[in-house]
Amino acid sequence: MVSYFSEIFSGLWSLLVGLGITFKEFFSPAVTVEYPYETLKMPERFRGHIQLIADEEGNPNCIVCMMCQRACPSGCISLAGKKEEGQKKKVLTKYILDFTTCSLCGSCVESCNFNALEFSKEYNLASTRKEDYIIDLKKRLEENNS
Ligand code: SF4
Ligand code: SF4
Repeated sequence: MVSYFSEIFSGLWSLLVGLGITFKEFFSPAVTVEYPYETLKMPERFRGHIQLIADEEGNPNCIVCMMCQRACPSGCISLAGKKEEGQKKKVLTKYILDFTTCSLCGSCVESCNFNALEFSKEYNLASTRKEDYIIDLKKRLEENNS
């Protein structure tokens, strides 16, 4: 008889503890986000794919010195530029990143002495198409500035 009531008491106590936890969590701030409708702010040291940095006028800081292309151990950077009349520096005409082979090693960013390259905070890149990982960084910069 005693064990019968003891089991009832134990079951009720367990139910109350469970409900208490549920009640507490119901009023606690949410720690999850509704991905992909909400996105997270990435920490300072997060490495997304590389991206170009623009000057105040929105033009790439890149002077087409080719150091990043040479520094890349995976050969995933392909860039080109041209010299325009009256301009001292070369103007960037193409900057393509093949992100399928990028190891995010950072050699390209470290090799750039012109504050022209950085890691993006982009993490939402899921795709089944390889072409989506061949990224035109110059076009991307122009789109972000428009
Ligand atoms: S190292 Fe910097 S300035 Fe030189 S080509 Fe690369 S991004 Fe441009
Ligand atoms: S992070 Fe490394 S692998 Fe990726 S583009 Fe730069 S140098 Fe190449």
